[in-house]
Amino acid sequence: MGENLDRLKERLTEIRNLNQANAVLAWDQQTYMPPGGGPARAAQMATLARMAHEMSSSAEMGELIRVAASDVADLPADHDDASMVRVAQRDYDKFAKVPSSLIAELTTHGSLAQSVWAKAREENDFASFAPYLEKTIELSRRLAEYLGYEDHLYDALLDVFEPGMKTAQVRAIFDDLKRDLVPMVRAIADRVHRADDALLHQPFDEVRQEAFGRMAVEQYGFDFARGRQDRALHPFCTEFSVNDVRITTRFDPQWLNPALFGTMHEAGHGMYEQGVAQELDDTNLAGGTSLGVHESQSRMWENVVGRGRGFWQHFYPQLQETFPEQLNSVDLETFYRAINKVEPSLIRVEADEVTYNLHIMLRFEMEVDLLEGKYPVSEAPAVWNQKVQEYLGITPPDDTLGILQDIHWAHGTMGYFPTYSLGNILSLQLYDQAVQDVPEIPEQIARGEFDGLRGWLTEHIYRFGRKLEPNELVERATGQPLQSRSYMRYLQEKFGEVYDLQLTPA
Ligand code: ZN
Repeated sequence: MGENLDRLKERLTEIRNLNQANAVLAWDQQTYMPPGGGPARAAQMATLARMAHEMSSSAEMGELIRVAASDVADLPADHDDASMVRVAQRDYDKFAKVPSSLIAELTTHGSLAQSVWAKAREENDFASFAPYLEKTIELSRRLAEYLGYEDHLYDALLDVFEPGMKTAQVRAIFDDLKRDLVPMVRAIADRVHRADDALLHQPFDEVRQEAFGRMAVEQYGFDFARGRQDRALHPFCTEFSVNDVRITTRFDPQWLNPALFGTMHEAGHGMYEQGVAQELDDTNLAGGTSLGVHESQSRMWENVVGRGRGFWQHFYPQLQETFPEQLNSVDLETFYRAINKVEPSLIRVEADEVTYNLHIMLRFEMEVDLLEGKYPVSEAPAVWNQKVQEYLGITPPDDTLGILQDIHWAHGTMGYFPTYSLGNILSLQLYDQAVQDVPEIPEQIARGEFDGLRGWLTEHIYRFGRKLEPNELVERATGQPLQSRSYMRYLQEKFGEVYDLQLTPA
C-alpha cells in the first residue's frame, strides 16, 4: 500500500501506545498502587493523555488522514486499511470539533462536582448538588452543539459511546420493552416468595471463591496466557493489547454473587478484547466497537450463560464440592431460583436482570428531558421518585436512595446510561442468532463446553474490533436491526418459569 497510508499507520500506532501505556497506569492505580502514589500518578496520566490528545487532534493528523484517504479510495469499505482511515477520520472529527477549553472546563467541573455530589449523597441534600447538575446540563448542551447532530441534541452525546445510534431508535426500543416489562415486574412482585436468596448470603471462603470463578471463566475460554485477574474495589476490564487483557474482581466473604457473577461479567468483556483479530492489535481498530456491544458480551456470559439452568446442571455439583457446608443441603432448583431472584429495589447497581432496565430507562428519559429543559432541575427529584413509583411500584424515601445514587451526572457525563440496557437487549438478539446458526450450543453449555458459542461470537462480533459500527455489526450478524423481541421473550420464558406465571408477549 501507499507511503501515505504507512505514515498514518505509524502515527496511529504511536497514539495507541500512549493510550495503552496510560491504561497500564490506570489499572495499577486501581489494583496495586499504594495510596501515597495518587498525586504523582494523576500527573503522569494527565501528561500521557495530553500527548495523545495533541497528536490525535493536530492539524498534521488531519492532513495525514486526508492524504491517506486517496491510498484506500479503491478498497472495499470493510477492508482493514479502508476501515482504519474511516475510523481515524471519525475519531479526528470528534477531537478536532471540540475546543480544548471546553474539554478543560468539563474536566474541572467533573472533579469539583464529584466531591460536592459525594457529600450531598451522604447528607441527602439535593439542593447543594443542584447547581452542579445544572452545569453538567449546560456543558453537555455545548458539547453536543460542537459535536453536531441532525435530529436531536442527545444524538451527539449518545454517539460518543454508541457510534451511529440515534435517540429516536433508543426511545422506540425502550418504549417497546417498557410496555411488557412494567406489568411483568408487578406480577412478579406479588410472588416474591417463590425465590429466596438467603443461601447466597453465608460465609464463603475467598480462596475457594477465586478458584471456582477462575475455573468457570477458563472453561468459557478467557485465555490466562493472554490475560490476568486481579482484585479491585470497583471491578473493570482493560486491555493493553489483544494479548494482554486484565480483568478485576471484588470478593465479599459473606456473599457469593459479587465475585462469581462479577468474574463472569468481566471475562465476557475480556474475551471480546482477546478475540479481536491479531492484525488489528497495533491499530486504531483494536478494542470493542461500543459500550453497548461490549456490555452485550459481559451480560451474555454473566446472565444468559452464567445464570442459566444449563450451566448449573453441569457446574452445580462442583460448586457444592467447593462449598459443601453451605450448599450440600441445597438442591439445584433452589439454587437456580436464588441466583435468579427478582425484586423491585431502589438501587440500580444492585438490581436484578428484570428490573435493571427500568432503572436505565428512567435515567435516559430524564437526561433527554433535562437537556430539552422540559422542567427545572429543582423538580428533578420529584420526577425521579414519580417514575420509580410508576415503573417499579416503590418510592425512594429520600434522594440518597433516589436521584443522588449515581456518579455519572456528577462526572459531567450524559448519554452513557442507555448503553447498559442496549447491551442487555443485544445480548439476546446475538444469542438467539448463535443458537439458530449452531443449534448444539445449549446442549454444549449443559456439558460445560463453550467453544460453539465463543466461536460464533468470535466469527461475527469479536474479530472485527472497531471496524464496523454497532448497527452494521448487528445487522450483519443477525440479518436485522437491533430489536428487543428476543430479549423480552427470554425474560418472559425464564422468569415466567421461575415465578410460575403465564407471561406472554403483548
Ligand atoms: Zn460491564
